[in-house]
Amino acid sequence: MYKPIVILGPMESESALLIQRLENRIEHPEGAFTFHEGMIDGWPAVICRTYIGVVNSAAAAALAIQKYDPLCVIIEGTSGAHNPALHQGDIVLGERLVHIGRFFTPHRDAGEGSNAFKWEPHGSEIATVDPDRETDVLHSDSRILTAAETVPYTGGRVLRGCIGAADIWNRELDMIAHLHQTLGTDCEEMEGFGVAQVCAMFRVPCADIRVISNSEWYPKEEFNEKYGEQCQMFVLEVIKRMIAEKTLL
Ligand code: SAH
Repeated sequence: MYKPIVILGPMESESALLIQRLENRIEHPEGAFTFHEGMIDGWPAVICRTYIGVVNSAAAAALAIQKYDPLCVIIEGTSGAHNPALHQGDIVLGERLVHIGRFFTPHRDAGEGSNAFKWEPHGSEIATVDPDRETDVLHSDSRILTAAETVPYTGGRVLRGCIGAADIWNRELDMIAHLHQTLGTDCEEMEGFGVAQVCAMFRVPCADIRVISNSEWYPKEEFNEKYGEQCQMFVLEVIKRMIAEKTLL
């Protein structure tokens, strides 16, 4: 039997449409999660709503990998722009994935306050990537991103970029600019790096594909969950393209 493609979407508005589109769908409860197994264009696929955050999505990724030995794991959904050139509806293909919640702070004495601009980014230990070094950057599988680049999309631009993740929603423009300048982030969300870290650990190809759903740079571009649906439809086309072209086989 073919190995399934696993797709993870944190929120209902980032997973329900994909679940609906599965052919011959069967639900499998697994711990706190429900894995929806089915077919897309004759290929096995599993969709899971992970719930929000790095820990939830990493747990879902680990369980899915143990249960299904997947061909790949795709994490998708909404994100907030760090790059002022991006707007709602644009799709960022996560060529680079970074953690934006893991810092060492310089010492300050009592009463000296806090300055997040001085915090030093810190890598993550991933034994199977490099046991003697901390990893700062992970990558989506470039074959998946190449397939994504061939999918027609009218909702905005599609571009490769750097996606930051942590359990934080940044709304301070100076901090957003700082992360953009120091870590090169184009957008932020709350799951990607965690899922990519688990995938790296188990040596499973992975991709993070995100729509811009909000931008602090532009007051009118407030979070709107309709973009989560737009991202799911784009990812469905990416998967169909991967199946048609036998990407990863
Ligand atoms: N504000 C929404 C809740 C979204 S919570 C509401 O009112 O319903 C955060 C979720 O959206 C996470 O899964 C995260 O991946 C994504 N997200 C979208 N924009 C984000 C941003 N600017 N910062 C952090 N996470 C963001």
